Parts: sequence; structure tokens; C-alpha cells
Amino acid sequence: MLSYQSIQELIEAAVEQDQCISDVVLADQAAALEQDPENLIQTMLQRLEVMRQAVEKGLADAGPSPSGLSGGAASSLRQALDKQQSVLDPVLVQVMAKALAVAEVNAKMGRIVAAPTAGSCGIIPGIVLTVGELQSISDRQIALSLFTASGFGLVIANRASLSGAEGGCQAECGSAAGMAAAAAVELMGGTPEQSAHACAIALKNCLGLVCDPVAGLVEVPCIKRNAGQAASALAAAEMALAGITSAIPVDEVIEAMKDVGNQMSVTLKETAAGGLAMTPTGQAVDARLTEDAASHLD
Ligand code: SF4
Repeated sequence: MLSYQSIQELIEAAVEQDQCISDVVLADQAAALEQDPENLIQTMLQRLEVMRQAVEKGLADAGPSPSGLSGGAASSLRQALDKQQSVLDPVLVQVMAKALAVAEVNAKMGRIVAAPTAGSCGIIPGIVLTVGELQSISDRQIALSLFTASGFGLVIANRASLSGAEGGCQAECGSAAGMAAAAAVELMGGTPEQSAHACAIALKNCLGLVCDPVAGLVEVPCIKRNAGQAASALAAAEMALAGITSAIPVDEVIEAMKDVGNQMSVTLKETAAGGLAMTPTGQAVDARLTEDAASHLD
């Protein structure tokens, strides 16, 4: 739990105390958990290391997932970057490759940090590790930025949802993008208000995004959505750092996301009964996997 009920309260506390959002969240969580803040930082550094190892593993392992539905995307993107075959800025490609890498490790049942969920696990590592490398930022600072991401995530969880089953993919990958954008702004030396605008912009850019995993597996479209939402998060951070603001305050965007999630059909909330899961190809994949599973039981 977080003592702050809204992002606005969090921002006001940071501004009043002349601190970063991460400092405010860290102090709040240390008090709530009755822990020394340094212990929480050390735990977050361990989480950061898990994120880094997942990136390295995902980039190196181009093999297929157990279902055969995914695998090798991160490695392909990295190779294209190495061969200078990218149309995008290399920083953006690196963000996307890392996001794909972690999501692919998740699909292979590897070790990831569910930040905020397993399905959206690539977005935050993709952003904070790339920005950290780019700016030669210490691991300690990167770990601190994860407290900022966590603070935003806790508010979203309290006011709306982080679950695809409850709010669609906007709640899962969208929230991860909002959290990552807020952390990126802090890492780049932006203000607490800019972090809030970055989160709002990232969330607005994916309102209505449905949860429609093919065959109910967190692979298609989830893995590539991690890359897409990581790119969106970076774009949102860039805009906010340039002084571009969200016309709708972030807390209202979160409320809108909740409202959209409530209006979303249950077929589009992780039930694999709508969207991409119900395309002819999606259904054929589901039938093949069901047949494979049955043959293993024979
Ligand atoms: S489509 Fe659904 S299962 Fe996949 S990442 Fe989004 S919310 Fe998670």
C-alpha cells in the first residue's frame, strides 16, 4: 500500500519536500513496511539485476518457446541493429530489443520481474536499462527510479487496475508504459510534474487496448506489445521532457482507463474469446496446441 491516493498527492509531496518522487515513495514504503530504506534499495538492486539477466538471456537465446509461438524476436532486432539495418534511432531499437528479450524469457518460463505483471515484464527493464546505459547512470540511481515506477503503479492499482483480466491490456502493458515513462523522466533529470505528464501521455496512447492472448498464452500478441509499449513510453518521456503536457491530468486518465476497462467486453479481458485470439489463425493455433496437449496425455 501507498499512503498517497493520487499521483497529484505524490507530486505535491515531492515538490513540497524538494525531493524526487523516488525519495518520497521510498520513505513511504520504508515506513509502511517498517524497514530501513537501505534494505529496500538493496532489494530493488537485486530486482534490477534479475531484469538485466533476463535481458541478456533473452537477447542470447533465439530458440522457440515451448509452444513454438514465439522466440528469436529480440535476437533478430539486435542483429538488425548490429548490421545498421534499422530505420529507427538505435536507442529506440535497444529499448524494444530489451523489452522483447525479457518478454521472451517469460514465455520460456525463465526468471523475470513481474513489473507490474509477467505479461508486461519487458517494458520497464527495456526503458530503465537503456536510459541508464545511455546516460551512464549508476545502478543505484536506476534502482531508485524503480521506486518512482512503483509509486505510479501502486496508485494505478489502487484507483484502477494492473490486470488484463480486469481492465484489458491497457491496464497491464499500458500501466507498465506509464510507470516506465515516469521513471525515464526522473532518470533524465526531469521534474515530478514531467513524470506525471509522461505517465498520462503513455496511458492515453493505449486507452482501449484489449487483452486477447492467442490460445490464452502470454505470447501473441503480448511479446511484441511489450516492444510497442516500451517505444510508446520512451516517446511519452521525450515529449514530457520537452515540456509537452497532458491536457488531461494523469489521475483523470487513470480514472478513464478504469472506466474503459469496465465497459470492455469480457471477451477482451484475458479470456481468449475475442480479438486476435478469435481470428482464424488464432483459433487454428489454439486447436493445434489443444491437440498436442491431448496427444501427450494418451
Ligand atoms: S494481451 Fe493480455 S495477457 Fe497479453 S500482455 Fe496484454 S494483458 Fe497481458
